Amino acid sequence: MIKETNAPEETFAFGKMLGEQAKPGEVICLNGDLGVGKTVFTKGFAEGLGITEPVNSPTFTIVQQYDSGRMPLYHFDVYRIGDISEMDEVGYEDCFYGEGVTLIEWSNMIGEILPDHVKTVTIEKNLKKGFDYRKITVEEK
Ligand code: ADP
Ligand code: MG
Repeated sequence: MIKETNAPEETFAFGKMLGEQAKPGEVICLNGDLGVGKTVFTKGFAEGLGITEPVNSPTFTIVQQYDSGRMPLYHFDVYRIGDISEMDEVGYEDCFYGEGVTLIEWSNMIGEILPDHVKTVTIEKNLKKGFDYRKITVEEK
């Protein structure tokens, strides 16, 4: 599935739609360069799950958990991960294989521990189509 957006609100709305459809145990890998809109997408996704707390990229930890929606959301941002053992320390298996939904920004940095079946959301810019243009590709793997 491919969705093209031309404003942050549209990426938010697309994330929200996927959040509304999310099922327990889903793991979504969010890929794309810095500033492309991964966190904007995540905020929309969280709203689609019914989460009312403010959602921001986890800064001091690699994962932030939100419990106010219809199922838990585990939001990982592993951009600053030093060693894969940090994933064990935060108990990633309970997230990936639990009853909540997991969103992972920069998932390519932890490729070796990703489950076999994940959904991949890739966000890309194309400056020829304008500064706010984004192409969002959703793939099941
Ligand atoms: P990331 O988490 O990928 O590093 P952010 O979501 O934090 O990126 O930031 C994306 C930035 O791009 C925001 O400042 C947002 O306003 C801007 N932006 C412009 N157009 C879009 C768009 N179509 N979709 C998402 N974000 C957009
Ligand atoms: Mg981010």
